[in-house]
Amino acid sequence: MKIFNTLSRKVEKFEPINPPSVGIYTCGPTVYSRAHIGNLRTFVSTDILKRILNFLGYKVSHVMNITDVDDKIIKESKGEKNKQKEITQKYEKLFFDDLKELNIEMPEKTPRATENIQKMVDMIKNMVQKGYAYKTEDGIYFSIQKSKNYGELAGLKNVSGTKIRIKNDKYEKDNPQDFALWKFYDKEDGQIYWDTEIGKGRPGWHIECSAMSTKCLGESFDIHTGGTDLIFPHHTNEIAQSEAVSGERFVKYWVHGGFLNIKENPSAEAEKMSKSIGNVITLDSLKEKNINPLAYRYLTLTSHYRSEMNFSWEALIGAQSALEKLFDFYNEFGKNIGKADKKYVSEFKKLLEDDLAMPEAVALVWKLVKDDSVENEDKKATLLEFDKIFAFGLDKLKKEEIPQEIRKLASERELARKNKEWEKADQIRKKIEILGYELKDTKNGFELKSVK
Ligand code: AMP
Ligand code: ZN
Repeated sequence: MKIFNTLSRKVEKFEPINPPSVGIYTCGPTVYSRAHIGNLRTFVSTDILKRILNFLGYKVSHVMNITDVDDKIIKESKGEKNKQKEITQKYEKLFFDDLKELNIEMPEKTPRATENIQKMVDMIKNMVQKGYAYKTEDGIYFSIQKSKNYGELAGLKNVSGTKIRIKNDKYEKDNPQDFALWKFYDKEDGQIYWDTEIGKGRPGWHIECSAMSTKCLGESFDIHTGGTDLIFPHHTNEIAQSEAVSGERFVKYWVHGGFLNIKENPSAEAEKMSKSIGNVITLDSLKEKNINPLAYRYLTLTSHYRSEMNFSWEALIGAQSALEKLFDFYNEFGKNIGKADKKYVSEFKKLLEDDLAMPEAVALVWKLVKDDSVENEDKKATLLEFDKIFAFGLDKLKKEEIPQEIRKLASERELARKNKEWEKADQIRKKIEILGYELKDTKNGFELKSVK
């Protein structure tokens, strides 16, 4: 397996620290608003990586944190503890629902920042003791000058030796600064603070991830993922803090996903999808347009995970018809499932191992579908093998066997409708429902579905 490592800026051979175990940490959502499909692209990419590693025989342990306290959440909840809980619980649930809709496997662990404050405090104490951190009137800051290779991940040169400080969690790459590990209480924080050995206050965003990742995966682990915007300052600062505490390399492979961009109108320049620009699309807006969220999953796989991707409704609708075509083919290949074709599976594996060449893997699906030299039942088996990675849900597409009794009732109802015997038709429909089936009228007659 080969994978691009942001740290070396090269495609590298993947060699985990303790094979066959692989630890992956993903920066999770800040739960104060709905995730947009740009965020979700990054989470689909990590899901693909995780599925590939499991497919190749590794045993992946995946951790994704939930950022449930930070500058934005405090602002949104106006410092009220109940409100903070209400907001973060609401958006955490909606986020997990989104993952489910996209067939993204739940990580093995999803620690919340507010439940791991003690680990953060311990790390900060350790950094103060070792001289990596210092106290000011408004917080405890990390001194980037003390860090051995500060900025290596982001390719920063001439990291300034001056002691300019920044309290905000987000700032620009051109201006590396000492950043806040712990923010002392400010009246704007209202009821949201912790009384700890290092003072009354709350953690900075960067220390949250250092604490939760090392607590769950150990001080040195294999893979850390996120979108490219996190390279600086977030991941850069995570490295500085974690390595200051442990004295060991924090992460072996840094894997970053490219951004999803969108044009405001056809003649405009594409811009990144972002809440602050206000150009976001959520899974709900897809569903309102009758688009299956899995069509979005399909669409994301048609671009390489590291490339930027321009969103358009036309492309998404195209992805939806491609996916439906695939479902139809799969059903038309018959009931029997044969044996996965070795040649195709080996070609597929090669693509997965080549830094996640998913667009080529999608193309291979269509080559297989149209290949007359492979038996239909073997095509089905091969597609099911591929679907361990794609996760389009082919295994759930089994054509339903509707019992004879139900089909007979449905025909009787159809007849009653034709004879304008509305009451009788309604009664039969109710009977069908009681027996656990749903009857939907369509242009060409009716459709039956089990609702069990
Ligand atoms: P946030 O909730 O803002 O911390 O973002 C969650 C994840 O989504 C992070 O890994 C970000 O890097 C990623 N992300 C944010 N915007 C985009 C975008 N437009 N395209 C792809 N990934 C994004
Ligand atoms: Zn993070």
